[in-house]
Amino acid sequence: MSNKKKYTTNKGIPVPNDQASITTGKGASYTMLEDAHLTEKLAHFGRERIPERVVHAKGTGAYGYFEVTNDLSKYTRAKFLSEIGKKTEVFIRFSTVGGEKGSADAKRDPRGTAMKFYTEEGNYDLVGNNTPIFFIRDSIKFPDFIHTQKRNPQNNLPDADMFWDFMSLTPESIHQATFLFTDRGTPLNFRHMDCFGSHSFMWYNEKNEYVWVKYHFKTAQGIKNFTNDEAVKMCGENPDHAVEDLFEAIENENYPEWNVYVQIMKPEEAEEYKFDPFDVTKVWFHGDYPLIPLGKLVLNKNPENFFAEVEQVAFAPSNFVPGIGPSPDRLLQGRLFSYEDTQRHRLGPNHHQIPVNRPKNADVNSYQRDGPMTVDENGGKGPNYYPNSFGGAEPDETVTPPTIELKAEINRHTMPTEDVDFFQTGELWRRVLSDEDKDHLVYNIVVHLGNAQERIRYRQCALFYKADPEYGTRVAEGVGLDINKVKELSEMTQEERVEATKE
Ligand code: NDP
Repeated sequence: MSNKKKYTTNKGIPVPNDQASITTGKGASYTMLEDAHLTEKLAHFGRERIPERVVHAKGTGAYGYFEVTNDLSKYTRAKFLSEIGKKTEVFIRFSTVGGEKGSADAKRDPRGTAMKFYTEEGNYDLVGNNTPIFFIRDSIKFPDFIHTQKRNPQNNLPDADMFWDFMSLTPESIHQATFLFTDRGTPLNFRHMDCFGSHSFMWYNEKNEYVWVKYHFKTAQGIKNFTNDEAVKMCGENPDHAVEDLFEAIENENYPEWNVYVQIMKPEEAEEYKFDPFDVTKVWFHGDYPLIPLGKLVLNKNPENFFAEVEQVAFAPSNFVPGIGPSPDRLLQGRLFSYEDTQRHRLGPNHHQIPVNRPKNADVNSYQRDGPMTVDENGGKGPNYYPNSFGGAEPDETVTPPTIELKAEINRHTMPTEDVDFFQTGELWRRVLSDEDKDHLVYNIVVHLGNAQERIRYRQCALFYKADPEYGTRVAEGVGLDINKVKELSEMTQEERVEATKE
């Protein structure tokens, strides 16, 4: 007898023939509805797609480990960070943001860097980007922002007017817009870029003393980027080049690594810092808060099946383990809701039971039951309510996070644009970018902004000018504007500028 696996239906029933449907005759003939193998095959095929992620649709993922190299356990009680040498399994998904599932990897876009740490206290998700900052600082703006990065509602084409109209009407975007149009907006692949937690997070220890932290993952491969023209070429030549690069590197045992650091800020320092430390459009300057080594991250195993693992992996920034928690960053606060919500829509309320999402190193003992696609033991015969006197799981009060004392003033408080919002962009231009980086930044903006209407170009160039006059002047010249008018607009308030550049 042959050792070959036997072909079966999805119910395990042996299939005698997969090349012919059951028909009424040998030639052209009618097909019989009784052919359950045929109907199962066609019906399943029609249901192969699940909703595409609205953002971060195109990407890839890999397994690996995080290893602690520096003991910072005096700041956090998280067990996976408790001692030097401790290793925790991880799964990471890299992605672009705006493009659809088949879009090109080399597009100018931030790159998503979503990480799942399978700790012994449950799964911890750190869902960041390859940039330390973001375009907006309040999650209520997120759907609008993403619409402008996608397609025009009439002609379904990417639209420079939509893109720059929103940016110029949202001046807090200036820092990330600048970052995006440097060559770091077109990284060579997923291995040659840094990853950031981007937001500020809370770390707290056994005594419930807390600090604020920011995570930095520095690539050990070195930063490498495409120029704009190289990226455009790669989009055409190989739209999947970064997916391929990561897969091949791991297959060839050329395992990518990142050195992991944190910046740590004490609560009393947060009250005094020259920037709002929870505003995700800003960094904490390294000179003020140096990078403290924490560990290293290594990716060393490719998934076995793309759909089962990469497409079905579900990340949510709300998945914290004891010792780590959120900060009052308004963008993070909205994300704490929307990621878990989108996974319920995309994968269903039991998405945590899908193998890649299941805690690998912790038990699950909740009282939630039933629902579509319940594939675990569903709590067995144990009680399905709490409190109960039948031996069900009990909460552990020792993992209660610190109390945050607040004096609240509840309202829709806007965060108006202030001069300080332009300072860090100016510092990036003046202190960090090389002459070549500046040339590329200006060129990269000009080839994109040049496609927007003149009044929008004026409004946006005034913001570049506010960040740094040389920066604003060079972009304005590149897109054919009158510098005196740009300067004049830069000296107005945002309201006056909007009025002066209306249609
Ligand atoms: P530093 O002057 O101490 O260090 C410069 C930072 O900028 C490094 O993190 C470096 O990252 C990064 N960088 C270098 N070249 C580029 C580039 N072409 N495009 C984008 N980033 C680059 O930084 P400060 O903390 O004093 O901040 C100065 C400015 O640097 C900030 O306003 C911000 O725009 C930018 N920046 C700051 C970061 C932070 O967390 N403080 C992080 C990234 C940027 P690398 O080591 O990978 O080269």
